[in-house]
Amino acid sequence: MQRKIRILIVEDEEAIRNGLMDVFVFHGYEVDCAADGREGLQKACSGIFDLVLLDVMLPGMDGFEVCNRVRAIDRDQPIIMLTARTSDDDIIQGLSLGADDYVAKPFSVAQLVLRVQAVLRRSQIGVANETRLFLGNDVEVDIANLSGRRGTEALSFTRREMDILQYLHANSQRPVSRDELLNKVWGYAKGLDMETRTVDIHIAKLRRKIEREPAAPRYLTTVRGAGYRLLTD
Ligand code: CA
Repeated sequence: MQRKIRILIVEDEEAIRNGLMDVFVFHGYEVDCAADGREGLQKACSGIFDLVLLDVMLPGMDGFEVCNRVRAIDRDQPIIMLTARTSDDDIIQGLSLGADDYVAKPFSVAQLVLRVQAVLRRSQIGVANETRLFLGNDVEVDIANLSGRRGTEALSFTRREMDILQYLHANSQRPVSRDELLNKVWGYAKGLDMETRTVDIHIAKLRRKIEREPAAPRYLTTVRGAGYRLLTD
């Protein structure tokens, strides 16, 4: 079990909002909601959500504007727009503002859940189908069982250590900053000026497990001024 995937639902119609919350809670997601554009923007900008379901017709600020502003802050935030309007112009506008997908109302719940899963899969953080991670030819990690081995040595991990390892593995093409780890793994809002030492302590513990020489890491490397990067081979 990895941490629950967090979805933000921005929808002004109470019946639809509550219905969507029930559906995604039922499917094992952690769900928060907002009833208007401004509240939605504020919550979406916290950066703690893996995906935002965003209605177009909203009081305060419409969904296109919310999408635009969220994108200005975080261009990788997965967003799916919901709308009753189905003209091609709306679809083009929504996608050109950077929504990852577009679902027209009335939608089938099953269809919406599939679209959400598809966007999460593309964004690499959600619905991890991987059950094992491999580093080089000597480290194997069993995600579900919080266990693994390095050579012939058995390893065990805490839930948090596994979440860090999975996140770094999913983003192994680049370094990941301490702030991003606090945001995406711990779920702290961005810009809180959190104690980043807690990240370093977890990294040190992970190195003692997966590295043959923790002081000279081959896999879990430090990128000066940028954070940590997991090299997978
Ligand atoms: Ca609406």
